[in-house]
Amino acid sequence: MSFHRQTISVFSQKRLELIDITKKIEDAVIESEIEGGLCHVFVAHATAGIICNENESGLINDFLKLFQRLEKLDNFEHNQIDDNAPAHLLSGLIGPEITCPIENGQLVLGRWQRIFLAEFDGPRSGRQITVTITGG
Ligand code: ZN
Repeated sequence: MSFHRQTISVFSQKRLELIDITKKIEDAVIESEIEGGLCHVFVAHATAGIICNENESGLINDFLKLFQRLEKLDNFEHNQIDDNAPAHLLSGLIGPEITCPIENGQLVLGRWQRIFLAEFDGPRSGRQITVTITGG
């Protein structure tokens, strides 16, 4: 059983953004030299998330419109502290992680699946994503 961990730093440029990080995760799997096992992707922030879905520009915009709908709700109590309650709520709903199988040294993703960092409170100069790969 082998274990490989690395941290990826991702810059965001907008307040709401989906950033395709699949290539960076694939590179980590190759670097691990693990042929079969699991790849865990975790973003260590309370105002970001990880989404696995299709990288199609219309769908990306649909996601962003959905996020904007939630932002338009009001009376957020956390906004009295630092004015970013919707970012926390979206992060909590989307979740901070995904686990993918690895087979033959490669991520097992569906034909249309990609892995995205979901930014809910950008721009940020370094979202930290921890990639943990275990297997043999
Ligand atoms: Zn906050």
